[in-house]
Amino acid sequence: MPSAQNDVQVLKGGRVIDPANGFDGIADVVTKGDTIIAVGPDAGLQYADARVLDMTNKVVTPGLIDLHTHCYTGLGDFCLPTDLMGVDSGVPIMVDAGTTSSTIFGLARKGIIDHPDTKTKIFALLDPSQIYLANKTFVCHYLRIADDERNIDVESAKKVVDDNRDVIVGFKVRATITDDPDRSPFLEAAHQIAPDLPVMIHLGAFPHTPVLDTEKLLYKLRKGDMITHACRGGGGQLDQNGEPTKAYKDAYERGVLMDIGHSAGDFHFRTARRLIERGYPPTTISTDLNVFNVDGPVYSLSTTMSKIWALDVPLDQVIAMTTINPARAINKQDTYGSLSIGRPAEVSVLDIEEGPCTLSDGNEEIVAQRRLRAVGCLRNGKWYDAIHDQKQTAELKEAV
Ligand SMILES: [Zn+2]
Repeated sequence: MPSAQNDVQVLKGGRVIDPANGFDGIADVVTKGDTIIAVGPDAGLQYADARVLDMTNKVVTPGLIDLHTHCYTGLGDFCLPTDLMGVDSGVPIMVDAGTTSSTIFGLARKGIIDHPDTKTKIFALLDPSQIYLANKTFVCHYLRIADDERNIDVESAKKVVDDNRDVIVGFKVRATITDDPDRSPFLEAAHQIAPDLPVMIHLGAFPHTPVLDTEKLLYKLRKGDMITHACRGGGGQLDQNGEPTKAYKDAYERGVLMDIGHSAGDFHFRTARRLIERGYPPTTISTDLNVFNVDGPVYSLSTTMSKIWALDVPLDQVIAMTTINPARAINKQDTYGSLSIGRPAEVSVLDIEEGPCTLSDGNEEIVAQRRLRAVGCLRNGKWYDAIHDQKQTAELKEAV
């Protein structure tokens, strides 16, 4: 695929799936500079001098959004190279989920988010503590500062949020408890620092620091707050008979969003299958990519999407779960998540690889009859090949 920086580009003749606009059909997507200027069957024909990228047999979608990544390379030892999860995986937009807290956020902003070498568009969910750093050894939990209320300073965190509202779109909370098992001061702090911003909660335990019981946690979440690792095993979503718990159903119906956040051990086909069967599909599909899971079982967003597709969720819904739904979750639906004319030129392109393939959640393997693989993306109007996803395809072919 040529690198395209011409003024007008036509992504020609792909199957365009744009769930926000209810569109699924063969069409062209035309961009001029950093903006989408036309979408529709043969919409590119009138642009005779345009650079044309042939999308025959490809799926063309709004720019994919990975709602849960760890992408602040160099802050600790947990993050992956920033663009590996982004444009190199066909994902022009991603969200860092709480790798850092308020006192070090400026470093993440200057060193990664705004750095000229960073190609992917990054938004941030901030940890509400003063000092938090996601790293391999969970040092903030080991040192017990992840459950020490002295680590909370609502006023200074407010200032960091208000100074960075163009990129901070919410909070990532580890709902640790202190002396009272019925409340998490860290969740309360996030709700106080910026009551208008959503909170993403890590469902599940941490080493060293106790967390709020799932049932209590679910009842504290507001409409628009998100649970990540929503399909993990033993997370309190299902009761002993494998049925969704009342707390889970109540939260879902109240408008709490359910995010996949796959990670190494936090996605189980069994849980996902049951929740989907019972009418509680995830709202968003995200990876939680970090050093522990990029070489399996997560690999990339397209692989994670393939797993949900393999559970008989229709393809347009799988696309919605990685485009308009995450855009809504971070209140960016007026800018991202659809291919409407006038929107920024953020577009993803996927291949459907037909034929049996094995997909693993790290515990259970299933055989799917087809899967998605990223081809590339337009990020701010510039084309990037999905070299990370394509590398895996090449390796698989070599192994045959
Ligand atoms: Zn994470």
